[in-house]
Amino acid sequence: MSAAATPKVYGWCPGALRPMMSGDGLVVRVRAPLGQLSPAQARGLATLSQAHGSGLVDISARANLQLRGIREEAHAALIAGLRDLDLLDEDAGAEARRNITLTPFWQAGDDGHQIALDLAAALTEATDLKLPGKFGFAVDCGAAPVLTDTAADIRIERGPDGLLLRADGADTGLPVTAEAAAGEALALARWFLDQGGATEGRGRMHQLMARRAPPAAHAAPAPGATRLAPQRPGATPFGLLVALEFGQMPARTLAKLADHGALRLTPWRLLLVEGIDSLPPLPGLILDATDPRLRVSACTGAPGCPQARAVTRDLARDLAAAVPAGQHLHISGCTKGCAHPRPADLVLTATGADTFDLICNGTAADHPLNTSLSAAALRATPDLLTEGS
Ligand code: SF4
Repeated sequence: MSAAATPKVYGWCPGALRPMMSGDGLVVRVRAPLGQLSPAQARGLATLSQAHGSGLVDISARANLQLRGIREEAHAALIAGLRDLDLLDEDAGAEARRNITLTPFWQAGDDGHQIALDLAAALTEATDLKLPGKFGFAVDCGAAPVLTDTAADIRIERGPDGLLLRADGADTGLPVTAEAAAGEALALARWFLDQGGATEGRGRMHQLMARRAPPAAHAAPAPGATRLAPQRPGATPFGLLVALEFGQMPARTLAKLADHGALRLTPWRLLLVEGIDSLPPLPGLILDATDPRLRVSACTGAPGCPQARAVTRDLARDLAAAVPAGQHLHISGCTKGCAHPRPADLVLTATGADTFDLICNGTAADHPLNTSLSAAALRATPDLLTEGS
């Protein structure tokens, strides 16, 4: 750990019914069913964001949409609006349990679509299931996996002989049919709790797997983990992938996108616009797969996050062109590293209003190679990023 102060760690994820206070107001996270927004829902969310918040919309690493800067006194009106758009769970418990990431590359009626629907219904009904706030499910049943780098505790994937249910961190799983997958996923979640996987509302499956083996029936070998190539903007058989600069866009861009088709949310700071293969430029969007801004990430930083030591995104934008092709620079307002919890090639962690630690091949909390770098020095001499790395 560097000299930067230890950040506050929350054991839960904000939702719509249980929002989180940030430096710019409430963060209200919307868990769109199947990760999909109809054009009417997207337009409605844009209107709510502009009426009750800052007019800025994020996409999270779990493929949820976040409305930022919501005024506390407007929360009730926002909830009513989300209910009208059919984007609200029955209660905060159901909202927290229904933590499902579905591959955006699904088709109506395929295994992933059916399993995600079944799982959402089963989790909504399972009122006795007290899972840790961050516990989640990945439904990744396409021909090739795309969610192995996305945080989840229970995974439903395609193995060589069919669907496989797997505890995150285990290298074997349980063969399942599409019809049985949701029920078996809930059984595995209950097993996790029975094994003491959660204490005081915290705990993750991979931590339990480090201590013990999965259930005996989970004996089928899982395909070996392969490093996934990052998803890029461009046309796909399902529609057009577009990137959001720093995972954020103005609400007016969300409304404009709705004119082109239904939207699917992804965990990669990208949106998929169904059924199209090109778009005109829109504020906050990156449409070119070679845009240097795809080589950088930055958390909210100051002033939006109360824990931030410094402004992050302006610096990331300015340094993007200096990041060598194939490498990634993450700029974090504190050691928590929210926007890139995994190691990155280069990390700048703010330690003061204008001082950053430089970490190579690590996380925002790892030991720095260089300390006390100012934003001005980095802008003047971007080679400071790569010298000695
Ligand atoms: S990493 Fe960034 S967004 Fe997360 S708590 Fe720290 S300053 Fe805030």
